Amino acid sequence: SAGWLADETPRLDSSVKGSAFEPTSPRATEPVVGPERTVDGFAKAFLDELNFEAGVALKRSTTTDQYLALARTIRGYLMADWLRTAERRRQNPTKMVGYLSAEYLLGRQMGNSLLATDLGDIAEQAMTSLGLDFNLLRAQEIEPGLGNGGLGRLAACFIDSLASMDVPSIGYGIRYEYGIFRQTFEEGRQVEVPDAWLSLGAPWEFPHPDRAVQVNFGGTTEQYIDGDGRTRRRWLPAWNVQGIPYHYMVPGYQNGVVNTLRLWSARATQEFDLKIFNSGDYAEAVRAQTFAENISKVLYPEDSTPQGRELRLQQQYFFVACSLKDFIDRTLEEDFDLTRLDERIIFQLNDTHPVIAIPEMMRLLMDEHDMEWAAAWEVTRKCFAYTCHTLLPEALEVWPVELMTRLLPRHMEIIYRINEEFLDTVREAFPGDELRVRRMSVIQEHPERAVRMANLATVAGVKVNGVAALHSELLRDKLLPDFAALWPNKFTNVTNGVTPRRFIRLANQQLSTLITDTIGPGWETDLERLRELEPYADDAAFTESFRQVKQANKDRLRSILSQRDGIELPEHAMLDVMVKRLHEYKRQTLKLLHIVSMYDDITSGRVRREDVVPRTFVFGAKAAPGYFMAKEIIFLINSVAKTIAQDPRVTDLMAVAFPANYNVTLANKLIPAADLSEQISLAGKEASGTGNMKFALNGALTIGTDDGANVEIRELVGDENFFLFGMLEPEVAALADRGYTPSSFYESNPALKRAIDLLASGHFTGGDRSLAAPVVDDLLYKDRFMALADFQSYLDAQARVDAAYRDVDGWTRSAVLNVARSGFFSSDRSMRDYLDRIWMPKS
Ligand code: PLP
Repeated sequence: SAGWLADETPRLDSSVKGSAFEPTSPRATEPVVGPERTVDGFAKAFLDELNFEAGVALKRSTTTDQYLALARTIRGYLMADWLRTAERRRQNPTKMVGYLSAEYLLGRQMGNSLLATDLGDIAEQAMTSLGLDFNLLRAQEIEPGLGNGGLGRLAACFIDSLASMDVPSIGYGIRYEYGIFRQTFEEGRQVEVPDAWLSLGAPWEFPHPDRAVQVNFGGTTEQYIDGDGRTRRRWLPAWNVQGIPYHYMVPGYQNGVVNTLRLWSARATQEFDLKIFNSGDYAEAVRAQTFAENISKVLYPEDSTPQGRELRLQQQYFFVACSLKDFIDRTLEEDFDLTRLDERIIFQLNDTHPVIAIPEMMRLLMDEHDMEWAAAWEVTRKCFAYTCHTLLPEALEVWPVELMTRLLPRHMEIIYRINEEFLDTVREAFPGDELRVRRMSVIQEHPERAVRMANLATVAGVKVNGVAALHSELLRDKLLPDFAALWPNKFTNVTNGVTPRRFIRLANQQLSTLITDTIGPGWETDLERLRELEPYADDAAFTESFRQVKQANKDRLRSILSQRDGIELPEHAMLDVMVKRLHEYKRQTLKLLHIVSMYDDITSGRVRREDVVPRTFVFGAKAAPGYFMAKEIIFLINSVAKTIAQDPRVTDLMAVAFPANYNVTLANKLIPAADLSEQISLAGKEASGTGNMKFALNGALTIGTDDGANVEIRELVGDENFFLFGMLEPEVAALADRGYTPSSFYESNPALKRAIDLLASGHFTGGDRSLAAPVVDDLLYKDRFMALADFQSYLDAQARVDAAYRDVDGWTRSAVLNVARSGFFSSDRSMRDYLDRIWMPKS
């Protein structure tokens, strides 16, 4: 017999069903008790981590050791809530939200965890009692930059809100070994450095190699007859990898809830290794391992204009295959009737990146769970909803049929069949309209046969939503009008939001204190309560405090930029900030033209020095490494900044700062200090923006176009507290139809001509005209996003900004009203809208 082996505790392996944290022995059901919530308790827990877990004596420990021990200590306080939340959800299974996102731009974890547990003071005192510098330790954390910009940061805000609202939910994504690159500048040009965010250790994650999931790729499909004599198809894959889940805590705000973010890391399967290894080629076996692990190696650094690379499709399939399998096999009870799957899950597709989940669900249900096509489709089309994040046609992902067939042959077959049945529906609804059929098809024929992922998501999704009111309208009427004609009720809007915990409470502690002192606590989870601040917009004591907070935030920023970047900023100047990815549609060049124009006005004596409102301009922006024009724009901004800093004629009136490596950590320091928020995309191009919301909530006034969520910000804060400029979207469309020639604006506008001529002259590029030429020539002869057409209107609006800023009381009043009226932009409200309109509609 098996003897003693028979009594061995069964190993947890990937075939074991049940949800995360299913107790495997009676002891595990005992309550989990965290460390004591006292300074001594905290200090003791910290020393335990340092001594017994890390094996280091306090006296000998490095700052890194101390940071890691501090992180693990804080984590310990969340553990009981985490286990309890999981258990509670397991005991009472209800419909869950599965948020599928290829990006999570989380930002630092420590501050957020301290806030969620309300342990900040205790932790600080405990560190002090041990003779340690708490703030120095906090500064050690490298933020997990597992996203590019707005889309990834949105996912992070959403999971924060879901936890704070105690919504049963799980975030699924990829644990990239290298997140968004670290940006440095050399001679004013962007140089990318790999982001080795895991190099110091990863105290916030919990790897579970015992719960690995296998993911297949390649090969062929075949027809076969099953045991019941039915003709079926199956996939004969050529290779596979393992997905290892890494769990991250997602703590709610002081509510005892801790949700889970499950990120997948790729690892070579033993089977795969051994086959090659046994053939005697050791080097080849190791190479194969590297090949498999490349799948989760690095985040693609393109924002809005993704490159259709094979590895990217591998990443997309890898994480959704892991996630669906994880949900069906591990999270659902065993023997759950999968025809009722939609009663237990709705998967939200964050853009097209996870859309391959749709054919994967069909494959799972049919090939692995024995369902017929019709039944599988009936379920699948109730389990997904799709969020579109763009209006740029080039940002809509398409995957060549050739690639899809080679990598995922079974999925390609499924997509063809979904499309066939869908096009029958279209033909029925619009007989004889073959042009429409071609436009709506999931397969495009030109310039190459390819799968249109947005069409696939729209065909299968319960709902399709845009991310701001204007965007949802344009999505319906311009991007996907044929689909809207077929299924008008499928389209809806959910305006984006941001978490007030990270972006007000953590980022702007002084403002938070002022708010709490004025309207009482609780606004952090009920942000509409900021309305109660409105009466104080005219209260002298309050507005004075408000101004002091802003000044303190500016002082803090000056000191940070001095230490971090060696940038010295003037003490008193309007802080005019444009931070976001570098993209032509966002129009950093328009901002640059304004700066050059102001410089030219001062140096040529066209304005009197005493009439100039001193300004400090701050840029923060990463360019995709392969985006030539974006990198040229960065170079030109840096060139202008340097010239201005060295020109004594202007240094008392203007400064341009471009700190490298804009990320969430820097955003948290910059946004609270800003006076003016630049949201100047060409109307109809920015889907929503979320940076715009963060600025308004921190008391900056917006200068902006009628685009994305700017529209809603302006409606809420009021025209008089917002500087609107530029063409409206229909005017943009009309100008494009008439034929746009940027040079005609250059010829007819003297201020514009002077600014462009000065840029072109080489004045800012050491006399070398060729260095400015790429940007200047593009503006003059192409200007795809019509910066020149909006220039005069922008300049006029900037003049209104100057006038408003001179009136200190009026400006402060507007700033207070921006805060008071922006509560709508809490991501808690976004989550409520998703729940009501998409995930769990009442009707
Ligand atoms: N990048 C970072 C680091 C952010 O924090 C944000 C949002 O605040 C964004 C990008 C998105 O900015 P925007 O909405 O202006 O494009």
